[in-house]
Amino acid sequence: MEFNIAIVKGDGIGPEVVSSAMEILDLIGEKFNHKFNYREVLAGGSAYDKYGEPLPAETIDVCKNSDAVILGAVGGNQWDDLPRDKRPERAILGLRKELGLFANLRPGMLFKALEDACPLKTEIVGEGFDILVVRELTGGIYFGESGIKETENGPTAYDIEAYSEMEIKRIAKIGFEMAMKRDKHLTSVDKSNVLESSRLWRRVVNEMSGNYPEVELNHMYVDNAAMQVIKNPKQFDVILTSNLFGDILSDEISMITGSIGMLPSASLAASGAGLYEPIHGSAPDIAGKGIANPIATILSVAMMLKFSFNLQEEADTIEQAIDKVLKAGHRTSDIIINNEKAIRTTEMTELIKKEIDRR
Ligand code: NAD
Repeated sequence: MEFNIAIVKGDGIGPEVVSSAMEILDLIGEKFNHKFNYREVLAGGSAYDKYGEPLPAETIDVCKNSDAVILGAVGGNQWDDLPRDKRPERAILGLRKELGLFANLRPGMLFKALEDACPLKTEIVGEGFDILVVRELTGGIYFGESGIKETENGPTAYDIEAYSEMEIKRIAKIGFEMAMKRDKHLTSVDKSNVLESSRLWRRVVNEMSGNYPEVELNHMYVDNAAMQVIKNPKQFDVILTSNLFGDILSDEISMITGSIGMLPSASLAASGAGLYEPIHGSAPDIAGKGIANPIATILSVAMMLKFSFNLQEEADTIEQAIDKVLKAGHRTSDIIINNEKAIRTTEMTELIKKEIDRR
């Protein structure tokens, strides 16, 4: 099969980790007889430097006309003082909006080989955990009406959390479908004891559960969920939640997996290209040193193969190769636990390629 992929390497370590992921993808193409065509475009600080815009029209156009988008990361200290609409991060928000990416999928899994990097006790994590957070990405308080009004108590700021039935339905559908592909357990997280928007959320999710009788659904208040992911992360399979709660919970879950350099993400639209990126930023402190961990980006590519191209076996091959390399004790500096020797980005990439080649 043949696929067209937009490549947005971005800033800092973005180009280093995306180049590694492209090497892996090319090898998968060779082994499984697929052709991946790339079109490289700029976004973030590098786009600002060249065009004076963090998200040029050409980038939007190429991304919209591709089968999927792979993104590294954007941002860096040299662009921190730019006006808001010129800042590199505007590129991410702009792409989400332009591509209609309403569903953010963030797996939080603990690789067995990295369990010592998990800050939780072994008796809590046992054989590891594997949670998928399905977060609504284009609604809720981050996109609601906001402002400041004068009151008798001085200026009063407000941000409105609003969700329509349509928005809840389409994200809940993704949550149920993901649960069907995994262990068939969905935890919907809300704050329906306090918030009207959460009460609608819960009602809609309950109504939809009738379409997925095989999925075991439970509801959890967000404050309890924040405790439960620390107390007993193994109880979760898929967590479905709003933009705000998902932002916080998925970061909390990333902390208990041991390294930010290991975690991928996918953002999906109702139709058209999905966007795949590591959860980490551009890591300016290590950019250009050749020591970044490429695994989060390589796992993002595996998600792309699974969710955008329906190539499950190819995705499994990548995940298994990474597992073997980690089990053999190879580590980039961010995941060193027991004085192992730190290897470079290129060495980690080569080792993963060797494992893929071996199958
Ligand atoms: P960061 O994720 O870039 O880095 C946090 C820490 O983790 C750093 O010490 C870094 O060296 C380390 N790290 C991150 N990824 C790593 C990897 N693959 N391998 C090894 N170590 C890794 O977060 P930050 O420092 O808060 O932000 C730096 C810049 O990135 C800022 O400009 C921020 O706005 C931007 N950012 C961009 C995105 C994105 O593009 N989606 C996301 C978050 C932050």
